[in-house]
Amino acid sequence: MSPTAQGRTVIRGDTADEDGTDTFVSIDPRTGEVVGTHPVHGPAKVAATVRAARPAGAWWAGLGFAERARRLTAWRRLLVGRLDEFAALICAETGKPLDDARLELVMVVDHLHWAAHNAERVLGRRRVPTGLLMYNHVATLEYLPLGVVGVIGPWNYPAFTPMGSIAYALAAGNAVVFKPSELTPGVGEWLAASFAEVVPEHPVFTVVTGFGDTGAALCRSGVDKVAFTGSTATGRRVMATCAETLTPVLVECGGKDALIVDGDADLDAAADAALWGAMSNAGQTCVGVERVYVVEPVADRFVELLVAKAAGLRPGGEPGADLGPITMPAQVDVIRRHVREALDRGARAVVGGRDSVRPPYVEPVVLVDVPEDAPAVAEETFGPVVVVNRVSDVDEAVRRANGTGYGLGGAVFSRARGAELARRLRAGMVAVNSVLSFVAVPALPFGGVGDSGFGRIHGDDGLREFTRAQAVTRRRFAALLHPMTFDRGSRTVRRLVRLIRLRYGR
Ligand code: NDP
Repeated sequence: MSPTAQGRTVIRGDTADEDGTDTFVSIDPRTGEVVGTHPVHGPAKVAATVRAARPAGAWWAGLGFAERARRLTAWRRLLVGRLDEFAALICAETGKPLDDARLELVMVVDHLHWAAHNAERVLGRRRVPTGLLMYNHVATLEYLPLGVVGVIGPWNYPAFTPMGSIAYALAAGNAVVFKPSELTPGVGEWLAASFAEVVPEHPVFTVVTGFGDTGAALCRSGVDKVAFTGSTATGRRVMATCAETLTPVLVECGGKDALIVDGDADLDAAADAALWGAMSNAGQTCVGVERVYVVEPVADRFVELLVAKAAGLRPGGEPGADLGPITMPAQVDVIRRHVREALDRGARAVVGGRDSVRPPYVEPVVLVDVPEDAPAVAEETFGPVVVVNRVSDVDEAVRRANGTGYGLGGAVFSRARGAELARRLRAGMVAVNSVLSFVAVPALPFGGVGDSGFGRIHGDDGLREFTRAQAVTRRRFAALLHPMTFDRGSRTVRRLVRLIRLRYGR
């Protein structure tokens, strides 16, 4: 046995499956118990899976929008019917409280429904205006599936996050090969097995399991696009690997989201939302609130409310716990360092402190007056730690909120200026007078800028992300002026130029 970079165990050789493949185990971070054993798929197996997916994808695309929607609806019903069974598996592999896993699946189902029922509207063939020159043509636009999409996912929302790509890629008519995180392989396998119950004919949605090397093999396997969700560091590696084969890539990476509290905000609601945004899922949320900028006149009251609300929060492994453990053991060191460096540099902990880090749990920590260049402000913490810094006005708040390389999500609490401040944030998504709400609106695109990546999942853009636009013109009749022939004569282009001058030159 040997530990991986993330602290998990790989078992080589002796417990290999019948064809000699190495296996690894997923572990319940609350108890250390083994949840399941999974193969470590190497490049040959990954390539074979993608090869098998190709004709499956062609078959799936050939079903058309209506039949695909019917199958995806059947899958949705199956997921709803087994929601508690699936939620229990998510709990076992991540350690998160049962209700959080249930909430994750509620959102999965809503997105799946939306993708299935909007694919035809967004992607289906439509006529577009031809413009002046090609008036004798019909122009049509259609978004065709790419073929096979490789999806690489993280562990923090092991069903919801990858389904933002999987559901939309499938609805668009692609086959999908999914590489789940090494921490949550069982969730990936469960998803694919449940899909195969409603689409038993061909391997349209399959899973390969293993570590980073398996993900890299998927990038090199000849898939038509890779949809990656994970850390910025891995995102760069994935992009570099995909560049070898010019494989297009969608990159959804980390964030350092800020919440701005304006002077006229509903402070009780803002404190409640800040706490949920920062501490739910033990802070292991890409669009979690990691920084709060609150304007000076209301800062004391806001912190008072936040501290009071945080006092009751307890991490634990029992069903009623507010937050679960830190799923990835290696993250505990990052959280500890961020808290320690902030306190060493003069910040104050108004909730928790150095002793809050007790692996596998971390108790909530609220830090105030943290230097802006401390890691707790500048880097993704990915734990139940939030920084609250006071600012003189909202302009300073916006400047600081935009002051990191990340640009994923954000939030604003303001009665009068919410929409204006939202627009000034360098972020892909912003919630006004709430947090995280954009993730639960399937029609809204999701994705970041800068170090948070590029490309969009969810919504119309998320469907188009897994397609190629195909433009077709069909000539209906001969034009009076036909410039694209060697027989056009000397006057055709001159007449056209005259026409254009009349039409556009004034
Ligand atoms: P990682 O970047 O560690 O891993 C993400 C996935 O990439 C895993 O499946 C991992 O496999 C795989 N992988 C690792 N190395 C390679 C490689 N060289 N080539 C291809 N694939 C590879 O992220 P985490 O799983 O730790 O997830 C947490 C991160 O995800 C946070 O930064 C969070 O902000 C971000 N995230 C972003 C979201 C968004 O939508 N923007 C949503 C959710 C999370 P393995 O696990 O086996 O190493």
